[in-house]
Amino acid sequence: MDSPKSNDSTNSGLRDSTSKANDEEQDELCPGFRNADAFVKYGLGAVLSATKASASLPQTGDEDDFYRSFPGFREFCESQGDKLLHCMSQIMQHHGCRSHLRDQSKLTGLEERFDLVVDSNDVILERVGILLDEADGVNRTQQPVLPAGFQPPKIVVSSWNRMGSGSRSRSETFRLLHAKNVARPQLKFKEKVDNSNTPFIPKIFIKPNATKPLSSYFTNKQIRKQRPEDLDVPAALADLIHQQRTQEHVEDMFAHPYQYELDHFTVPEGLLSKPEPQVGYSTKCSFIDSLEDLVALNEKLCKLSEFAVDLEHHNYRSFLGLTCLMQISTREEDFIVDTIELRSELYILNEAFTDPAIVKVFHGADSDIDWLQRDLGLYVVNLFDTHQASRALNLARHSLDHLLKHFCTVDTDKRYQLADWRIRPLPEEMVQYARTDTHYLPYIYDCVRAQLLDFNHGQPGLLQSVWNKSRDISLKKYVKPIFTEESYLELQRKQKRSLNTQQLTAFRLLFAWRDKLARQEDESTGFTLPTHMMNKISEELPREPQGIIACCNPVPPLVRQQVNELHLLVQQAREMPLLKVRRWLEPMFLELETPNDQDSHSVAQMKARRIIESFENPFRMVRYDMVKPQYCLHCILFNRTQHSTIFLVISVLALQWCAHQQECQESAKGDVKKRERVASEVGELTPKPSKKLLKSAEKPEKKEPPPQDDFNPFDYSQSDLKVFAGSSGPGNRSMSYMAGKSERGVRQNWPKR
Ligand code: AMP
Ligand code: MN
Ligand code: ZN
Repeated sequence: MDSPKSNDSTNSGLRDSTSKANDEEQDELCPGFRNADAFVKYGLGAVLSATKASASLPQTGDEDDFYRSFPGFREFCESQGDKLLHCMSQIMQHHGCRSHLRDQSKLTGLEERFDLVVDSNDVILERVGILLDEADGVNRTQQPVLPAGFQPPKIVVSSWNRMGSGSRSRSETFRLLHAKNVARPQLKFKEKVDNSNTPFIPKIFIKPNATKPLSSYFTNKQIRKQRPEDLDVPAALADLIHQQRTQEHVEDMFAHPYQYELDHFTVPEGLLSKPEPQVGYSTKCSFIDSLEDLVALNEKLCKLSEFAVDLEHHNYRSFLGLTCLMQISTREEDFIVDTIELRSELYILNEAFTDPAIVKVFHGADSDIDWLQRDLGLYVVNLFDTHQASRALNLARHSLDHLLKHFCTVDTDKRYQLADWRIRPLPEEMVQYARTDTHYLPYIYDCVRAQLLDFNHGQPGLLQSVWNKSRDISLKKYVKPIFTEESYLELQRKQKRSLNTQQLTAFRLLFAWRDKLARQEDESTGFTLPTHMMNKISEELPREPQGIIACCNPVPPLVRQQVNELHLLVQQAREMPLLKVRRWLEPMFLELETPNDQDSHSVAQMKARRIIESFENPFRMVRYDMVKPQYCLHCILFNRTQHSTIFLVISVLALQWCAHQQECQESAKGDVKKRERVASEVGELTPKPSKKLLKSAEKPEKKEPPPQDDFNPFDYSQSDLKVFAGSSGPGNRSMSYMAGKSERGVRQNWPKR
């Protein structure tokens, strides 16, 4: 697999003849393009123009009728439509999908044609998903080794996360799961990880710099201890017990401990005037892994007016994720703090972290704020996020790399971004890498402040807005992923696969199995059973345990251990009456399937939502479905085929969108009634897709605030997204994406607290 060529993204994507030979050597998969990135760049531009063009077609109704009364216009539309369909057919054929889009005789009309496109998208998206998962696995799975001839026990014995359990089973499991891996840091934690299916409660018991004292819930150890930890209690029951026990404290328990201080925070006056950037960086670097050093560090920090912070994180061999490292840079010194070793002690730093007189500089703090709360009980008052500054300055890109290049003329190498940060002792290269993440930030903080003031003719408004945005980030509360009877639907909806009743039941059961086991073993769901394997099992419904194993390559250790359990689940699914569920009917079916649907959406509402979703703007669909941060971070591993597949998906989606734009008028005139008829065949009420619904589908973009990318996933900004500048969104709309976790556990059915 070859790495993308660096530093040539400034050139046009189209081939110039002199570099032809060179190109062919480098890239046969994207003929005519310098590299995959250029191809994607060109593709995105093309998709944008297509979308724009389709959006400016005459509106359904009188306007369109008027235009169509001109034969020239009609002919032109027809020939263009034909070309589009031909192009779509070709893409579909290329992917081995049914593609008789243009063959009128084989079609009953718009609806089937539309379904054909949707199905093809499903196929392509699924293939992309599998490739991405594979890339994911290649990068992150340190293949666990099973001793030769080892017969896995029928029942998992590896519940080491319950500290109370016997030591015999613990060591056995350890060997089983982690033979050649990094030792599990969780084993060293003084406080057991709480993966229970209950909401997160702040880990704080002392509150430095408080203007409003900490609630008694946190200061009284007795009350805090009363939590249902038993994972076997159904979610609703656990919640009930939990509520009963903690009723008086409910409000305090879930509030942000520094809400009051943050609400009343004002930027110290002096910080809004123009600074003289202080050149010269720290020269000393210390590794902090003892309490004594940590206390000394805190004392140093408390005397400063600013320091920079960053974290490194691991999320593959842990359910919630682990903060592995904290980098701190002052103007004189860099510190690398071992947040695994000092996990229970790091709260000490709250003294400096919540001091409103000390600026904490982060770059892209969204995730860091979550991780600090979740693992270390740390909060930040007076945050300055250089990522927000970069956005306010409308810089070409907002990644730290870019700021380093722009302000410090430093080229960075992101090689270790996805390294396993649990490793100890930390290799020197990784220490150096980690150090770079904060080393230059104090200086960058000066530079961006100066520029923000210059930008605004010396007025502090823009600078103040960065501080406000940063404060909003520090007000974020960590939300634990909560499993509900509905959770599987979210994943299923995103995947947009057609499943029959048995397959869907299998998917639901496997999803629940995976969630429960992952919590229990403190593994990520991706490690427990990767989604593409879960899909394969639920699609194939193997009759034998061996068939389940055959769906997985490589076989995840927990799947191997519990293959009989899984087999029972598949059998249970096979007992469901078999019904073919049309993709767009799934909401109805699913509603019948999930008795605990507390959303209490009517069939009509669910279906309407579904239809709206399926008419979404292709860009949104691509973003939502494919570019999950946990995937795109592996972009470095993508080969060209994968990139071109992504492009093809985008094209198909865009074409689908264009076709829809052109043809939805027909739908409005009643073609969709066909859908209703089919629906009523299964004896359900069917909503009429109202004009309003279709209208809303016509809008090319939903106006949303630009997503805040805390992860800097695959850097599409290198693909010169200025091409999108003309779109209706806000000016500096970026194509980087919301971290998936921001959705995780947010839409849950926990009773109000
Ligand atoms: P950073 O702030 O860039 O040092 O990243 C902090 C942590 O976030 C890393 O240790 C990774 O675990 C994770 N991370 C960084 N970049 C990405 C990415 N592109 N996708 C997913 N996770 C990432
Ligand atoms: Mn970071
Ligand atoms: Zn970092």
